[in-house]
Amino acid sequence: MRTADTSKMTFSKIDPGVGLKKALGMTPDKIIGLVSDSGLKGRGGAGFPTDLKWKLAANVEDDLKYVVCNADEGEPGTFKDRVILTSFSDLMFDGMTIGARAIGAAKGIVYLRGEYTYLRSFLENKLSKRRRDGLLGRNIMDTEGFDFDITIRMGAGAYICGEETALIESLEGQRGEPRNRPPFPVNTGFMGHPTIVNNVETFTWISCIATKGAKWFNDIGTEKSTGLKLFSVSGDCKKHGVFEFPMGITLKELLEKVEGTDAKAVQVGGASGRCVPARDFDRTLAYEDIPTGGSIIVIGQNRDMLLVAKNFMEFFVDESCGQCTPCREGNVKLLEGIDLLLQGQCSMHYLRELCSLGESMQMASKCGLGQTSPNAFLSIVENFKDEIMGRTESV
Ligand code: SF4
Repeated sequence: MRTADTSKMTFSKIDPGVGLKKALGMTPDKIIGLVSDSGLKGRGGAGFPTDLKWKLAANVEDDLKYVVCNADEGEPGTFKDRVILTSFSDLMFDGMTIGARAIGAAKGIVYLRGEYTYLRSFLENKLSKRRRDGLLGRNIMDTEGFDFDITIRMGAGAYICGEETALIESLEGQRGEPRNRPPFPVNTGFMGHPTIVNNVETFTWISCIATKGAKWFNDIGTEKSTGLKLFSVSGDCKKHGVFEFPMGITLKELLEKVEGTDAKAVQVGGASGRCVPARDFDRTLAYEDIPTGGSIIVIGQNRDMLLVAKNFMEFFVDESCGQCTPCREGNVKLLEGIDLLLQGQCSMHYLRELCSLGESMQMASKCGLGQTSPNAFLSIVENFKDEIMGRTESV
């Protein structure tokens, strides 16, 4: 059964425009203070404190600043941003506008996933209506001197463009490759100007926080992982779809709700996440324990874990931008190693070498893709030793 029962989501109980109106009655400092009090961290997966990102951009002197919404939802197993874009885009646009007021930006861009091209005209129509209603353009909601507008720009299907500096390169018309950091986008972002890049869900929660208050959000979840979160659930469970849960929920509790308690493992965080075995289902989905952008892939008892690892490594071989050697070559070597294991031609010694290679990739790759691409392979070797070791060469 598939479900995205949006009526059960907090977003369905928040009226667009209300949080924006309240925020525009505050000074930029107070808006950032509100976000800070809420404890909101980026919902794309990295978990960077939203208030800190905004504060850094707000403190840079520049006549031109940008607010970028990362709608390049490309992590395998993630589809919750699509639900927001389809059902709650006005809350997302409100959140972007609040961000613009906080940092002093006049321009906003939604970087929309290439596969979501079908949503472009729908979102353009929403933006046109917002202009007619005074929610974009000059003196927004009669706020003297606050001018802001949003345009939509299309991605072209590259996973790496979900990384914020590769996304900015792509926006500038370059090949989508991560930049060296520093400088960071909050200082030198789109076209060299201060830029905040936040995820679709992050901006949408901003509207809710502005509407219901920081305390409401902060009272939910754990001390270091506050608030609610959308999760995209797929795989070997009875209920698939998009669900809202509080941060800090255990995997066990989540699996009970989606009727997948018989799972052998859960891949948390998509291909770049980690594979959590059943003995660890008491662990929590929280930044201080198992962080996630929201992808939950339930793996049933009959799945071959080596094929699970192979599937993810094939993805990374395709998606590595090729800029740095550990990632470009390492992913290929890990995939070759999995094929050797499947053929019973990988020695224990070579398997150890592959694990060592994976650890080197985590340390030496230039960006998050190469730093996380070995995670699934390493966690599957670590947690399913019997299944993997039984495939090594017998001599
Ligand atoms: S880690 Fe991979 S994706 Fe990132 S810069 Fe290096 S080659 Fe490109």
